[in-house]
Amino acid sequence: MSAIELVSVLTELIFVLVFLLVAWSAVRRRTRTSIDIALFFGAIAAFIVESRVVTTLGLEQVELVNDVVTILVIAMPYLLLRLVDDFSTVPFVANRLAEAGLLFSAIAFLATVGQPPTSIVLVIVVYFAALATYCAVKFIRAARRSSGVTRRRLEAVAAATLLLGLTILVAGLSPVVPAAAGALDGLVQILALGSAIAYFVGFAPPPILRRAWQEPELRAFLRRAASLPRLPDTPSIVGALQDGAGSTLGARATIGLYDRETNKLRFQDPHGVLPNEIGPSEYLVWRAFETQGAAYYADAARANPGLAPAYRAHGVRSLLIAPISAATERLGALEAYTDHQPVFSEDDLDLVRLLADQAAVILESRSLIDEAARVRAHEQAARLKEDFISAAAHDLKTPLTTLVAQAQFLERRAVTEPSAPPDIAGIRRIVLEARRLSALVVELLDSARLEQGKLVGEREPVDLVELARDITGRETYQGRRITLSADAPVVGSYDPRRIEQALENLVENAVKYSPEASEVRIAIMKRDGLARIDVTDEGIGIPSADLAQIFERFHRGTNVDDRRFAGMGLGLFICKGIVEQHGGRISVDSRVGTGSTFHVVLPLGDTA
Ligand code: ADP
Repeated sequence: MSAIELVSVLTELIFVLVFLLVAWSAVRRRTRTSIDIALFFGAIAAFIVESRVVTTLGLEQVELVNDVVTILVIAMPYLLLRLVDDFSTVPFVANRLAEAGLLFSAIAFLATVGQPPTSIVLVIVVYFAALATYCAVKFIRAARRSSGVTRRRLEAVAAATLLLGLTILVAGLSPVVPAAAGALDGLVQILALGSAIAYFVGFAPPPILRRAWQEPELRAFLRRAASLPRLPDTPSIVGALQDGAGSTLGARATIGLYDRETNKLRFQDPHGVLPNEIGPSEYLVWRAFETQGAAYYADAARANPGLAPAYRAHGVRSLLIAPISAATERLGALEAYTDHQPVFSEDDLDLVRLLADQAAVILESRSLIDEAARVRAHEQAARLKEDFISAAAHDLKTPLTTLVAQAQFLERRAVTEPSAPPDIAGIRRIVLEARRLSALVVELLDSARLEQGKLVGEREPVDLVELARDITGRETYQGRRITLSADAPVVGSYDPRRIEQALENLVENAVKYSPEASEVRIAIMKRDGLARIDVTDEGIGIPSADLAQIFERFHRGTNVDDRRFAGMGLGLFICKGIVEQHGGRISVDSRVGTGSTFHVVLPLGDTA
């Protein structure tokens, strides 16, 4: 057997093998595409088998069989065009031209009893080659639109089709140039072998090749996947997963997350095909989710006629769906759709399953991160509560101990010395400590109210200058130098009780944290349509390390000695709450040993 003959036998074997494989898959999954593929290779296989049988066994050609085979071969370009139509759109004109060509070839052959003149054969050959080239271009375009395995397979099919067209062209030309017949025949065999191999790769690629093709897309997806759980929120993760799955599959993809409480899948479908929520229904995605099985629908409209108009409106032809589940936990479903039916359903189904599994891992990691954050927040809240209770208990205990001791002393004295004059100083101490206690309880209650956003109540016009004058004139500050500078009334719309509380707190602190002989200055002015209050002292100041937290609950400066300066670290926290709930801001400038200035800026409100 010569090398050329060997090539020829090999080519024929490959074509027959491809036919057997595609016929088997058409039997298993009867879709228009799989049948079209089987028909196309059936025509080639029939031609090969018939001529082999006749030449090998030296049989007389059976006319009817020969005619049928000839018609099938003539129909090949037309069958090829049908195939293109399955995953691309063939214009009306091209379809009609192909049909005309088919009719012409069939008539020519039948009218000349299988022996058409060379000129007609040439016309048919050119028609075949032109159509094959057109189909190859269409396949290339379809390949460009897809990605992953589909893209590689379509590229292989495009190459195979181009080689087939060339084979026919060269084979058709060889009778015209008898001198080069030998060389042309060799070329035909090689082109045909190339075409057979490329078709084999395109329509029945061995698993190892498919895996090799899938790998780069998958690798890219997995590389992105590793960072996805850290995205700010679940919708961003779902969006990124949809994009990744879409480009890996060469399709549009959407993910529905299962909400156990409502028993619904929630979608954020960027392509607008699916509604935002899908509960138990005839939706194919719900079916796949419920049965926890991946599914492929070559024709979505046929599988779910109820939704056919919607599918058509959104250009959805075939669907791939896989449930997203982690162990026994049902998390959701991944759906991918294409506007044309890919020939490669089976492989894509494997891939979509794999992507859904990856999505499950990512979503699970995300929910673990969320859970950890929840636990941390919970622990923090619990710790805060404990801090609160211990700080409150500690601060309440001091005045309470003095109060109880003093009261017991007075009681004993009253019993043992009933006629002794009342101990006025002792009674005053009791009143003082009871007041301190009451003030602490009020602070605790206020800080709780502040948390609930209920601290500031009804507002009314308040003159801040008058309020400050009132505060500075109080008996508590007798003996301290407090100066107030304000040119005119500064009236704004405030809750009078709370704004007074805030200002009083700042003045109290200025007095508390500065030496008796020093001066406290209050300045109130109206500037840029805002009320501004500055409270300045020449006291101990606040260490710069404390400045950032000084307005936080329970925070006290590290330079403050608990025994010398009583306090809970709630005053400034409440002050800030009051100012901010009035739409204002509070800040501080301070230097240790020099003094502090607290700045309050408040909007004037309606009364401005
Ligand atoms: P308390 O005075 O009860 O500790 P505050 O919330 O009013 O609580 O103040 C928090 C902390 O801010 C104080 O403990 C103190 O360290 C610091 N601080 C507040 N005002 C002044 C001031 N005028 N001078 C120096 N330090 C101050």
